[in-house]
Amino acid sequence: MQFNLTEILSNDGMNQKISTDIGIKELDLGNNIYQVVNPIHIDLDITNLGDKKMNLQGTVTGTLNIPCDRCMEEVDHKIETNFSKDIKFQDNEDVTWYIDGYNLDLEKLALDELIIDLPMKVLCSDTCKGICNQCGVNLNKGTCDCDNSDIDPRLAVFKDLFKEF
Ligand SMILES: [Zn+2]
Ligand SMILES: [Zn+2]
Repeated sequence: MQFNLTEILSNDGMNQKISTDIGIKELDLGNNIYQVVNPIHIDLDITNLGDKKMNLQGTVTGTLNIPCDRCMEEVDHKIETNFSKDIKFQDNEDVTWYIDGYNLDLEKLALDELIIDLPMKVLCSDTCKGICNQCGVNLNKGTCDCDNSDIDPRLAVFKDLFKEF
């Protein structure tokens, strides 16, 4: 989805607003692929600051389906990220990877911002118990008879404390 910047670039002080959905179904990060639940949407406000400089200000929203870091259950993770950046155009030079010549690639810009804002970990809940790492049962949904007492490092610390008394 390309937006041509020629008109705005040739009019100092000009401002233009864009609001559009990015029609992607999944976000491919190489090692992880997340399904898009609610469309990725970008609201963008472009201002020509003069002297071949422009400001891009906007918001990217959307909902991605991301597996819980502990139990792997899929979680709908809402994203809303704001950005503001100044871009200086120079002759015969690519200013940034999402601008080719005078064409702004809205999808690349939106994904760039979205990826920066992705959390390292998503949890289905703060109290998620995770999966038993011996039998694989989801401990939020059931219990198992495995002895995991040596595996949780927090419990191991308590054990050592008790030994001293
Ligand atoms: Zn979980
Ligand atoms: Zn188990």
